Amino acid sequence: MNAKPKASVEPLRKPHKCPECGKTSTRENYPFCSERCRQLDLSRWLTGSYSIPVAEDESKADDEGWYED
Ligand SMILES: [Zn+2]
Repeated sequence: MNAKPKASVEPLRKPHKCPECGKTSTRENYPFCSERCRQLDLSRWLTGSYSIPVAEDESKADDEGWYED
């Protein structure tokens, strides 16, 4: 069977801006532009200073500190 149309073939990967420096990412280091930026981001996570943007699938059960608006 070879009748399946290749309609939804995706291009490799869309260029993406490096979250660190804004340069175009490379495939090797996606979504970063370089190993350096990737490490930078990673180390930020590891040191805990990275502020996580609104979680997509986590519940908002984390209500600590919400009682004082
Ligand atoms: Zn970068």
